[in-house]
Amino acid sequence: MENTSKLNEWISDLEWMLKANRVVAVGECGLDNSGRKWDVEKQIKFFEKQIVIAVKRDLPLVIHCRGDERTDEMCLNTLVRLLPKHFKLHRHCFNGDEVMYRKWKTSFPNCKFGISPFILNDQKYPKYRSLVCNMKLKDIVLETDAPYLHSEFEDFGSPLMIKDICEKLANIFLCSVEEIANITTKNATDVYSII
Ligand SMILES: [Zn+2]
Repeated sequence: MENTSKLNEWISDLEWMLKANRVVAVGECGLDNSGRKWDVEKQIKFFEKQIVIAVKRDLPLVIHCRGDERTDEMCLNTLVRLLPKHFKLHRHCFNGDEVMYRKWKTSFPNCKFGISPFILNDQKYPKYRSLVCNMKLKDIVLETDAPYLHSEFEDFGSPLMIKDICEKLANIFLCSVEEIANITTKNATDVYSII
């Protein structure tokens, strides 16, 4: 079957790339039910292979999960089936709700959640702010997803937005920018086992 040979080719490419000595994680990988045709079976099949590779190499997984609640549930269920509970995960650009946050934390206590530039726009994403307010700082890593996520005033995002996100969180958690920077940096170095 054409699909199977393509899948095997991608997987062997991935395994080859993971041989580079500065690799710290596998991903982003996961499920995406936005835009184009949603071939869920194919996505899950590929995702499963990536999970198995991460376990085999003992590398954390960076999870991309975009879509509705069902997509989130399928993504989490796939991980639960294949991963030990204490496996390290980075749930990249998390934009779920509090229920999802708790479910992921219960299944994977070592999961960190990427807070994206959405947090900079309270008017457009009011629910995002209330989600973040209810999260624990020890679960948060900062990310810009540059150049993809950007403000309404720019065409592209920049890694420099990390400073704005940090300031915003200091404002939300009523603590200093340094404190946010220190905690979230530690979270990132913990999840990726880097110094
Ligand atoms: Zn992504």
